[in-house]
Amino acid sequence: MKVELQNLTKIFPSRNKKSKEEVVAVNDFTFTIPDGKLVGLLGPSGCGKSTTLYMICGLEKPTRGKIFFGDDDVTDLPPEHRGVGLVFQNYALYPHMTVKQNILFPLENLKGAERPTRQQMLDRAYEAAKLVQLDKLMDRKPNELSGGQQQRVAIARALVKMPRVLLLDEPLSNLDARLRLQTREEIRRIQKETGITTIFVTHDQEEAMSISDVIVVMKEGVLQQIGKPQDVYEDPVNLFVAKFLGTPPINVFDGTVAEGRLFIGDNNVLAVPGARDGKVFVGIRPEGFIVDQGGPFVCNLTNVEVMGRDCSVVSTHPASLNPTVRSIIDSDVKIDPSAEKVCFSLKPHKTYLFDAETSERIYFGG
Ligand code: ATP
Repeated sequence: MKVELQNLTKIFPSRNKKSKEEVVAVNDFTFTIPDGKLVGLLGPSGCGKSTTLYMICGLEKPTRGKIFFGDDDVTDLPPEHRGVGLVFQNYALYPHMTVKQNILFPLENLKGAERPTRQQMLDRAYEAAKLVQLDKLMDRKPNELSGGQQQRVAIARALVKMPRVLLLDEPLSNLDARLRLQTREEIRRIQKETGITTIFVTHDQEEAMSISDVIVVMKEGVLQQIGKPQDVYEDPVNLFVAKFLGTPPINVFDGTVAEGRLFIGDNNVLAVPGARDGKVFVGIRPEGFIVDQGGPFVCNLTNVEVMGRDCSVVSTHPASLNPTVRSIIDSDVKIDPSAEKVCFSLKPHKTYLFDAETSERIYFGG
């Protein structure tokens, strides 16, 4: 099921009675989520991710704009008539019920013609449990399950109603690091097997990048960029997106463009044909550095951390806006850890320029 948002906007009145200041939680979102894809809504706390999700499922009413599922305008439909499955961060299972009873619960609540027969309910519950690989644990109570298993019960409970769209609000937040990894792979597998259009909210860029077909990056209620994770990583439209994606994060410097050359501090580092003269922010991905004895970019070496195949060179530079500069290079490249300086040349396609006032991307040829 394709999901289309048209000029979707949510304005909350001020929480403070004395102040008239409204909160524009979601500001004029227009984008289409293609059928059968897993889409990650990504952004820092308060950027409007949950509000967007709640408008899609019908728990929040938009101030303006429309929501379509396929050709159906669902903007004014109540949640129970939209055909959505919702999974929250805290799985909220009924503690006194078994796994089977928890999964059956949404079906038992159906009324009239919508209500399946008892046998159909059981078949669907077992099908959903099988999908999340819990069919052998149907008689357990939630407190006899791990956090990851509990979250899978919540997913099965959302799937049992055969939703048109599955919505997941920070579903991995309550899990420890190992379970997060496992459960996110599970979510990906389940989504692929069912082909249900799935919208996944997270503030964790690595999580979103690893499992999404498409990511939507948001900031303060405003859509910044939408695209395949790798495309957005490699081609960010502004400094915010560049900084938000990537571990270790992008290195940012004050720079100057003069006559087609990029200067970082005194270092004349790169040809940037077509970029206009003036002050810029320079973003360099950690993998954008090449250790090069005669290289133009000269940093003060702090530390070399070898991590198996790669090593992380930690250094400083007077024009850096971060306390340290982190570069990732092949561990075959030998660096003397006792040296004072380390020199680099830069990969042009891993070096980005941003306007010093607007932080928008400045493109250059090469
Ligand atoms: P988080 O990752 O912290 O959950 P989020 O990106 O999901 O954040 P939202 O919960 O959608 O953000 O909130 C977006 C903005 O709207 C925030 O500034 C928040 O304070 C505000 N907001 C959310 N709900 C309400 C409400 N009921 N009344 C007033 N303001 C609200």
